[in-house]
Amino acid sequence: MKLPVLHPSRSAPLPVPAGPIRELRDTHGRVIRDLRIAVTDRCNFRCVYCMEPDVRFKRKIELLTDSEIVRTVRVARGLGVRRVRLTGGEPSVHPTLDSLIRDIWAVGLDDLSMTSNGSVLNEAELGQLHDAGLQRITVSLDSLREDRFRALTRSTATPARVLETVESAKRVGLNPVRINAVIVRGFNDDEIADLAALARRYDADVRLIEYMPLDSARKWEMAKVVPLDEIVERVNSVYPVEPIGRERTSSPATRFRFADGAPGRLGVIASVTRPFCNACSRLRITADGMVMPCLFSTEEYDLRAVLRDERTTDDDIAGFLAAATLRKQSGHGIHDEDYQQPDRPMSAIGG
Ligand code: SAM
Ligand code: SF4
Repeated sequence: MKLPVLHPSRSAPLPVPAGPIRELRDTHGRVIRDLRIAVTDRCNFRCVYCMEPDVRFKRKIELLTDSEIVRTVRVARGLGVRRVRLTGGEPSVHPTLDSLIRDIWAVGLDDLSMTSNGSVLNEAELGQLHDAGLQRITVSLDSLREDRFRALTRSTATPARVLETVESAKRVGLNPVRINAVIVRGFNDDEIADLAALARRYDADVRLIEYMPLDSARKWEMAKVVPLDEIVERVNSVYPVEPIGRERTSSPATRFRFADGAPGRLGVIASVTRPFCNACSRLRITADGMVMPCLFSTEEYDLRAVLRDERTTDDDIAGFLAAATLRKQSGHGIHDEDYQQPDRPMSAIGG
């Protein structure tokens, strides 16, 4: 089978690797263990750094069905994928999330997690997702100020509602809860210490994330990025922290604990100033079924067409995933002169 290539000007079709495929290994020696799957491109927010108010969503027929997602996970599991994260768009607006989680977990994984804006799910629903197999949740929260939060998300939701989700998630056993905050200079960098303090208050993992050039409005500029050193310095001046090791070699966060022994941990994801591409173990699948070997890929591979061809066997899917992995770029190249932002914003890739 030849890979269907969506951007033929930038890549040539790749033949499937010869011989039996046992793992997903790229040309830089990295092995894929993590799959990020966008289960929908829809969202009830329109975050300014992610989704434009007039965004056009894909038609339902263009999105992968639950059974297509589950089949892909099963094949990937056979090739050494151990962890799956569901994202989007907003995964909690997916109509059959509960049964999708149940079917994915039944495949047999080490971890199944989800990233959510935390504005939709109530405690009962979180409990059902946990019962279905969800192990952990990451909740995004970029500001604790109501006016700012509303301006950022272009919604009527509140930070208090998101924090309720954090508490509910803990109560139903989705531990440890992670809280993600993208830091944008001039927007919320004055809240860095307050956001870090959420780790102490909720015994949570707070991840402060450097702003990446993946915004649909294309307003990203380096001047808006608050680098890791500055983030740590700002936390440290209020809550002294000390470094701890990475969770795994492939984990992107540089991690810290609080020097006074308070609960919770801080992680900084410095994709821009300290890229961790050489340890990357991820492959991404968009809601419309394209494989993106990297968050910053400008090339994508049409898995949906493969899945919808009735002649396709599981071996064909394995071959396709292996061939797409071979196209994984060595790094994101944000700092290269010819850096090209992917056509899709974060919401359509699955952040
Ligand atoms: N809707 C869910 C949410 O907001 O958590 C899941 C999808 S969202 C695209 C996943 C993560 O990407 C969120 O934590 C969001 O803050 C982050 N994100 C979106 N655009 C970003 C950008 N330009 N730079 C860095 N992170 C971004
Ligand atoms: Fe929706 Fe998440 Fe993007 Fe915000 S960051 S618009 S919540 S997908």
